[in-house]
Amino acid sequence: LSDRLGGVFDRLTKAGALSADDVKTALREVRVALLEADVSLPVARSFVKAVEAKATGAAVTKSVTPGQQVVKIVHDELIAVLTGEGDPGRLKIDNPPAPILMVGLQGGGKTTTTAKIAKRLKEREGKKVLMASLDTNRPAAMEQLAILGSQIGVDTLPIVKGEDPVQIAKRARTQASLGGYDVYMLDTAGRLHIDQELIAQAAAVRDAVNPRETLLVVDGLTGQVAVEVAQEFDERIGVSGVVLTRMDGDGRGGAALSMRQVTGKPIRFVATGEKVDALETFEPERIAGRILGMGDIVSLVEKAQATLEVEQAERMMKRFQKGQFNMNDLRMQLEQMIKMGGMEGVMGMMPGMAKMQKQAAEAGMDDTMIRRQIALINSMTKRERAQPDLLQASRKKRIAAGAGLEVSELNKLLKQHRQMADVMKKMGRMGKGGMMKQAMK
Ligand code: GDP
Ligand code: MG
Repeated sequence: LSDRLGGVFDRLTKAGALSADDVKTALREVRVALLEADVSLPVARSFVKAVEAKATGAAVTKSVTPGQQVVKIVHDELIAVLTGEGDPGRLKIDNPPAPILMVGLQGGGKTTTTAKIAKRLKEREGKKVLMASLDTNRPAAMEQLAILGSQIGVDTLPIVKGEDPVQIAKRARTQASLGGYDVYMLDTAGRLHIDQELIAQAAAVRDAVNPRETLLVVDGLTGQVAVEVAQEFDERIGVSGVVLTRMDGDGRGGAALSMRQVTGKPIRFVATGEKVDALETFEPERIAGRILGMGDIVSLVEKAQATLEVEQAERMMKRFQKGQFNMNDLRMQLEQMIKMGGMEGVMGMMPGMAKMQKQAAEAGMDDTMIRRQIALINSMTKRERAQPDLLQASRKKRIAAGAGLEVSELNKLLKQHRQMADVMKKMGRMGKGGMMKQAMK
């Protein structure tokens, strides 16, 4: 696959912005890659379409081919789609005892996953967990959970013959309350296919205990089927998260993308083997890399982008060294701050900025304030931006009014600009190049 993609990308070596043709050609191969990774056809189609709109016209990083750039865009978009709400590894288990309902088809890995999650809650969060098997169809399944429980040192609800799943669930709840458990996990019976009885049973249990989490366990290798199962379960029972099992196999994990795009449910865990330790918190980056199978291209583009940022910063430093720091420079810095998620990112990168960072924090600088400052700069004329010294009372009034703000705020901005310009000048005298490079390492 990589070879075939590589071939296409070699042909796309024009620099500049991505043309519609570049994008179309590259995405045709990406679509095949997605299908090979077991992403369902409609999902692959709509995903590619969304990326096409985003990628066309996007800038191509220097020293990167358009094809490589498209791969990076695809990769980022994959991560965006795969990322669900909240922290995947954190289950809602406040208000003990918290019920967790495990649902899914037979053989999907419910019982094994129940034990894996119990072990994790016990070891990582110090929770006291009780597991109960509601699989009244198969006594062996109850036995299986009991064995796993003794393996991992987690209690299981004693088996009582003749109870139905709802009775067992209620007994688990009572036992969990009396025994001071933080969590009780209900491992339901599965079927080979979804049928009315299975759904009715799961719904009855749900209504009896009102689970804090309902985790759907599906075989990640089954691709399209897994997604259909998820949709069905979500509609009928309501699902709070998904666990994809058998991700240790050769499959490329495309089910994860289909699952996200179709159900919108967060993927919580990925199971990677039969052993009780083989459970990982879902990491969108890792799965995205696996689905696309082009990690080397992605890291190449990332490196090129990082290099470019260093170059830009160095160019800026050269200007500063000559004592040049006008409103355009300040605006660039402010925009950078917002892009990098606030003050800390940029300031931490700039040498000698620790002091200013502290001042800014004390002055209560936040995103809103930064945006207001940018609005003020935008309200200046080109000349005013290049030569802030021009700003006298009447100009100030006009600029402030243009941004819908007070002159006092503009004065604050001007003061900040003067302070920064001073620092820049001093730094310019101190360091002869290289300093920025060092700071950015
Ligand atoms: P259930 O019917 O849904 O409860 O499924 P089980 O938990 O009994 O699992 C069915 C089979 O799949 C067992 O042999 C498990 O050991 C195996 N299994 C479960 N999870 C995984 C996994 O992530 N990877 C692999 N390779 N096997 C798994
Ligand atoms: Mg089972």
